[in-house]
Amino acid sequence: MSGTRHYLDHAATTTVRPEAAAVYAEELTHLGNPSSTHAAGRDARRRLEEAREALAAAVGAEPAEVLFTAGGTEADNLAVKGAFWGRRAAEPARDRLAVSAVEHPAVLEPARWLAAHDGAGLDLLPVGPDGRLDLVTLRTVLETHGPRLALVSVMWANNETGVVQPLADVVAAARAAGVPVHSDAVQALGRVPVHFARSGLAALTLSGHKVGAPVGTGALLARRDLALAPVEHGGGQERGVRSGTVGVAGARALAAAVTAAVAEQEAEAARLARLRDRLVAGALAVPGVHLTGPADGAARLPGTVHLGVDGADADALLFGLDMAGVAASSGSACRAGVHEPSHVLLAMGRDEEQARSALRFSLGRTTTAADVDAAVAALPAVVENARRAHATVRRRVPVPAAGHVPVGTTAAAPGVR
Ligand code: PLP
Repeated sequence: MSGTRHYLDHAATTTVRPEAAAVYAEELTHLGNPSSTHAAGRDARRRLEEAREALAAAVGAEPAEVLFTAGGTEADNLAVKGAFWGRRAAEPARDRLAVSAVEHPAVLEPARWLAAHDGAGLDLLPVGPDGRLDLVTLRTVLETHGPRLALVSVMWANNETGVVQPLADVVAAARAAGVPVHSDAVQALGRVPVHFARSGLAALTLSGHKVGAPVGTGALLARRDLALAPVEHGGGQERGVRSGTVGVAGARALAAAVTAAVAEQEAEAARLARLRDRLVAGALAVPGVHLTGPADGAARLPGTVHLGVDGADADALLFGLDMAGVAASSGSACRAGVHEPSHVLLAMGRDEEQARSALRFSLGRTTTAADVDAAVAALPAVVENARRAHATVRRRVPVPAAGHVPVGTTAAAPGVR
């Protein structure tokens, strides 16, 4: 990253907050396993439980609802597999899952795994061209399969496009059918108000490194009445569903970061939305550049700008921006240095070429107007060069027929942020 002067990839990972780094470093000076019964262990347990209480208070949950994990992926897996297995064990007829088609692979893959290896029926819930969940289809799925559904999982906000989902409607519909709802709030936390009790969700995923805690920290919030089966087996920590010695340093750093992020959320969202709109206005001045998602900024995350660029590949766009000192992303998976067509954009009805031409800028706590202006200033030349490269490649390489392009979803690909 040495050449990066303008980091606009905060949805991939963001700066560690000083308060999180401080408690993390302080915890490393202590000795003691929180499961040990001696004084050192009891002290570690006390610090862990204080972190649990602080985290719970920040997100509107009960301390007993907080299950510490090693990040968002683990929490999503525990929610999807754990809730599916837990519910099916009690009610064998509940052998289906419904998840949105635009979920992060951390949700899509466990759902697909259950379908492929454990006999689960899977409903992939479609979204409209603006990326918002199709509630009519959700209601139809609930009417058709309600008594067989173990779980509905719909993310709070999408990691690629920043589109915020109509979660209140999802929860209302699923509740009426007696189906618990899980939501991946990894991108939403700290950017829009997130309150577990008020959301009506049965489970919610959060990840530390998106809000200023170190990578490898996270939590699943899970209501006590949600039957969860363990995914990992071992010493029975964390209500018996997430075995393994809990990392007190990570838990404390997570609690500190989430507390700060939630406290700043309202002011920060207003600041970032202004910067976002400035970036959008500058980007849309370039011909053939389109904004993804609903026109209403309130239905998009305040810090995320997702663009489609006609006639250009994401790889060339990102390379050009990188050369200009601007770190951005396509938002979707990259395999051997080449971006896959985004499963999110395909689900929104874009064709493969459009799904390969995406650009995501994501703003965060350290983003300034100068960062945004640098991206806007670089864009016209970067887009022009990327289009020239695209046109050259198309002249040289015969475009394969649609069926020959390795479509797939990005689900199994490494590196989706
Ligand atoms: N869910 C979403 C929406 C994400 O954006 C990410 C990370 O990019 C994850 C889950 C995975 O979180 P983690 O990197 O903590 O495993």
